[in-house]
Parts: sequence; structure tokens; C-alpha cells
Amino acid sequence: MTESTAPHEILAADVRSVLREIPDYPVPGVVFKDFTPLLADPALSARVVHHVAGRHHEQVDRVVGIEARGFILGAAIAHHLGVGFVPVRKADKLPAARHSVDYDLEYGSATLEMHTDAVQRGERVLVVDDVLATGGTAAATCELITRCGGQVAAVDVVLELAFLHGRDKLPGIPVYALISD
Ligand code: AMP
Repeated sequence: MTESTAPHEILAADVRSVLREIPDYPVPGVVFKDFTPLLADPALSARVVHHVAGRHHEQVDRVVGIEARGFILGAAIAHHLGVGFVPVRKADKLPAARHSVDYDLEYGSATLEMHTDAVQRGERVLVVDDVLATGGTAAATCELITRCGGQVAAVDVVLELAFLHGRDKLPGIPVYALISD
């Protein structure tokens, strides 16, 4: 780091220094990126929230967070932006009428759901999660938003596993990652 290092690069380096890697979790061959140490650091997580919210200030009407870790930063970012927060949840967790999308994961397959009235037609929606891996989770979330008539403004994650090419599943959608591995 030098005096000319951009603020987002300093933030990225600070976040990288606290992220924990857990080899072979939850299945052999996967290196799990654990961002709970970031959440445990109030000053650093506040900087991340401020950084992401600043990028989307007055550009979005809702923030969608993906279960479960996307809820944590997503809700804080929504609060910071002064817009509503919408949870996208795993199958059979939401109580009211919902849209449902099946998708493939880096390890396995799953279903994501969102309340049908959670996003209104024409609303601009920011999607937040901790990690973009193969992109299936984010793509399914974007599909749920589109089914409600919403427009996906961007997908914003703390960490992108670029070697898995998750962005390729999100054509035409701006994708932001604080850190790319
Ligand atoms: P994907 O659909 O493959 O992009 O997977 C993204 C979702 O799975 C996110 O909700 C992440 O929280 C989680 N995930 C996938 N791979 C990892 C990983 N290596 N470390 C931590 N979380 C991961």
C-alpha cells in the first residue's frame, strides 16, 4: 500500500486480511470463505456497508439479501440507503405466496424463493450476498426479481471466486465484488 492506493483497495486489503479460509468445507475440495470475522469487526463491517451503499445511493428502490449471509450485510446496506430489505430464502421458509426457482450450486442443488409481493413492478433492485461462486444462486435470485416485474440494478458481493466465472450467468447485470480471487 502506498499513499496513492485507492480507498477501496485499502478496504479490500483490510477485508481480505480477516476473511478465513476453511478447506474441505462443507464438502471435500471446496475452500469455504468464512466472513464471520468481518461481521465481528464493527468498524470494518461499517466501512463495507458504507462503501457498497455509496455505490448505489439513490440508484435502487430495494435491497434483496440471499439467505443467510446476504441478510446480514444486505439489511445493513438497505438501512443505510433508506430503502426496504427483501429476503430471498431457501425452500419452504417464507409464509406467504412466493415465486420459486431451482438452481445448481458449487456443491449440490437447491431452491430459492421470494414473496410475490416483495418487489413491485419497475422497482430497481440491488442483490447482496457474501460470495459469488458459480453464479447459480445470484442468477436464481435475479430470476425471482424479474418474475415480480422488478429490474435488477446490480449484484454486489464481498468476494467473487472469479475462476468459477459466476458473472457469465448474469449477462447484462453489473456485478461488483470488493475482492476477487
Ligand atoms: P454460487 O451459486 O455457486 O455462486 O454460490 C454462492 C452461494 O453459496 C453464496 O450464497 C455463498 O454464500 C455460498 N458459497 C458458495 N461457495 C462458497 C465458498 N467457497 N465459500 C463461502 N460461501 C460459498
